[in-house]
Amino acid sequence: MFYTCHLCGYPEQNKPPWTQEGLSPSYEICPCCGIEFGVDDINLLGFEIYKREWFEKGRDWFDQAKRPVNWEQEEQLKSINKIKHEELPFYLLDAK
Ligand SMILES: [Zn+2]
Repeated sequence: MFYTCHLCGYPEQNKPPWTQEGLSPSYEICPCCGIEFGVDDINLLGFEIYKREWFEKGRDWFDQAKRPVNWEQEEQLKSINKIKHEELPFYLLDAK
């Protein structure tokens, strides 16, 4: 079972980024955008700032060793819309 990053849409996180109604972060680091769940995205402002910086830097891979050969950035971003409610942080739950 894999989970999806709510910033970049990378769909192969080993743990849900957030659990328990969006209150408990995994503290995992996304290999794609590099966000550390519960640290960089501890609140909506932190999340928005990290997201803006990742986009401004060209949305490239944080961990180049894990970059898929045929990575489709736009396709991956679409998977953000399919994330289950229970995997989102609390500050994004109202928006769903
Ligand atoms: Zn990510």
